[in-house]
This record gives sequence, C-alpha cells and structure tokens, in this order.
Amino acid sequence: MASRNSGRKGAGIVAAIEERMPALVKPMAIILFGSPGSGKGTQSRYLVEWLDIPQISTGDMLRDHIRKGDAIGLAIQDRMRAGSLVSDELVNQLVFERIHQPDCARGFILDGYPRTPAQAEEMLRLLSGAGAGEVVIHLVVDYNVIISRMSGRRVCPKCGTLYNSVSRPPKVEGICDLDGTALVIRDDDREEVVRERLNQYERQTRPLIDFFRAMSDRLIEVDASRDKPEVVFERIQSGLKDLVRT
Ligand code: ADP
Repeated sequence: MASRNSGRKGAGIVAAIEERMPALVKPMAIILFGSPGSGKGTQSRYLVEWLDIPQISTGDMLRDHIRKGDAIGLAIQDRMRAGSLVSDELVNQLVFERIHQPDCARGFILDGYPRTPAQAEEMLRLLSGAGAGEVVIHLVVDYNVIISRMSGRRVCPKCGTLYNSVSRPPKVEGICDLDGTALVIRDDDREEVVRERLNQYERQTRPLIDFFRAMSDRLIEVDASRDKPEVVFERIQSGLKDLVRT
C-alpha cells in the first residue's frame, strides 16, 4: 500500500512533530480500542511500522508468561484459557513496567488495555506520570462480523502473523507465508472461549467508550466492519493526521 510504505521509516506524525517542534513533543500513547476480533492486532502492526513506536499488547505479554511457565503464567493460565480477564493489579503493573522502558520514550500503542474501568483510571495516572498524551482509536465492528472472523482465525506460532480463512487466507492453506510454520488456532480462539471473551467485552470493556468520550476530545471512531485492513488503516492515518493538525 503506497501511503503506508512511502517515505522513510518513522516518517509519520511523530517524526513530523519532532522535526517541527522538538521541545513540545510529548510521548504519544495510542490506545486501540475494540472488541476481540475487531482487528486491533493487525492495525497495531501497521501503526508500529508507520510511526516506529512499539506495540504493547497485554494479551501477548500474558501469553508470554504462560509460555515461560513462570509464577505469573501459572497464576493466570486457568483464567486466560477460560476467556476471563486477569486481575487489574497484574495488567496495570505489567503496563507500568513496559511503558517505562527506553523504547517507549517517543510513544507506544496500547492494544488490549485498558479493559475495565479500574484499568482505565489507572491508565490515566500512568500516562500522566509518563508525561504522555493519549489518542483513542475505536475500531467499530458489527457483532456478526466479529463472530465469523474469529471462528476462522489462525496464527503463526513462530512470528505471530494472523491469518483468517475468509479475509486473509495464507497462500498455502495452514502454512505461514513468511516462515513456512504450520498455523495453529490460538487456545483462546476456541468457540466456547470466544463466546466468553465477547461476553466479558460487552459487560466490562464496551462501557469504557463513554469514559473515553467524556475524558478526551481525541477519540477517533473508525468503521472496521467491511473493508480490508489496509483501507481501515488509511482511515486511522487520516484521523490521526487531522488530530495533529487541530
Ligand atoms: P483479544 O483482544 O482478541 O481478546 P487479547 O490477546 O488482547 O485478545 O487477550 C487475550 C486474553 O488475555 C483475554 O481474554 C484476557 O484473558 C487476557 N487479557 C488481555 N489483556 C487484558 C487486560 N487488559 N485485562 C485483563 N485481562 C487481559
């Protein structure tokens, strides 16, 4: 896609602002908000490439602990496998530690956090402590679309690339295009778990949109139901550019 790849790496908004007014730059926290299956992971990857800032996915961090089998992993694995949320204290702590690492100094993308009112409150404290300004991107997707997307979802266990049998099939069925690894169904993409994750989202997370609307004039609502991920990303880019101009 031309607009995403044009120019040098990082030649996005963050770099443009830094060039024009280095003394005024605050780290930019981009909060990607949307239901499971709304495409947060895919859009995060585009944003990472465009803006050259890291993605912070609480889901990935938690899965990492489970993979390692450490104390945190052992404590959360049953809840994760059932599609339930893990404790606010734990994710707040993980995000706090992560955003203070040097690669987050210019900004970062929050994918999957905050997910509860308690996390949202804590996030505001964390961001003001880190001197970061926030932008919320809400990926709006129809419920039926979510269900069909999630049931066809496959992931490469090696490089993390996401595929979908309908919207983004691999070139060879069941095989990662990038490294030839056999694709798997993520443990929490199984049907009964998907239903539970959507329940949790409806009850605990969706109401946060009112919180974001009230606290921030920097909320971008993007229709992410029908179009290809590249087109959704162009909407995000133009929303972000408009915000920076205003
Ligand atoms: P998705 O957004 O597709 O549901 P994630 O990878 O973001 O997938 O999350 C997977 C699981 O990790 C969730 O179902 C939950 O158990 C746990 N999790 C991730 N982020 C959080 C969070 N901020 N608070 C509590 N639990 C979380």
